[in-house]
Amino acid sequence: MLSRRPLIAGNWKMNKTVSETEDFIRTFLANWNRSEKSEVLLLPPFTSLTCAEELLQGKGIALGAQDIHFEEKGAFTGAVSATMVRACGCRYVLVGHSERRALFHDDDRVVSLKLLAALKAGLSPILCIGETLEEHEEVEKKITSQLAADLAGVDQKTAGKVTIAYEPIWAIGTGRTATPDVAQETIAMIRQWVAANYDEATANGVRILYGGSVKPENAASLLAQPDIDGALVGGASLSPEAFAAIVACVD
Ligand code: PEP
Repeated sequence: MLSRRPLIAGNWKMNKTVSETEDFIRTFLANWNRSEKSEVLLLPPFTSLTCAEELLQGKGIALGAQDIHFEEKGAFTGAVSATMVRACGCRYVLVGHSERRALFHDDDRVVSLKLLAALKAGLSPILCIGETLEEHEEVEKKITSQLAADLAGVDQKTAGKVTIAYEPIWAIGTGRTATPDVAQETIAMIRQWVAANYDEATANGVRILYGGSVKPENAASLLAQPDIDGALVGGASLSPEAFAAIVACVD
């Protein structure tokens, strides 16, 4: 749908020092064909946020964090709050990434609290959901239970501020990608869930991304699907040339 501006987000995970971040941004800017058709978002580690924010000033590229704690401040050694990343220039934050769920035990209760904390701080959360290979046969059951639990407490007024990323876990970092048809079918089902649980206008406005081994070679066919509003890119976003090539698939 024309009113949904595609979002191409690069999740660097635990990669890149400050100087590697500088190198990436300089090379990306040299390779990127700036266009208003898509929104580009970088999600570096916390340690690179300040440097990225300075280098991206006035460049038309958004900045986001990969995670937050749901509390605002206090005795939570090692944690970083939504307000803190907002003050570093972040507009977005990932919540519920499958690596956070699997490796750091972020369950749906924690994901829902993080999502609400992000909204309260003025950040746009990108809610990641997806099924394992074993759950794939019952993908609708898994996805709708995650949506119901993670969006609990998000009312009609704020639902439009959330971006959803469908990331089948079996496709993340594995080189296996959902076919464009399968990704489209699942994302259309997510949009229907939003329509049924909020309303048609919210469903038509909400951006739903696909993530899972997106590369320059497969991005165009995924992004051509009517319900796929962009990509959450992991591995391929570490290369400025590959990430620029994926962004160019929208244009
Ligand atoms: C991700 O980390 O969100 C992701 C989709 O990773 P990759 O592109 O490497 O599969």
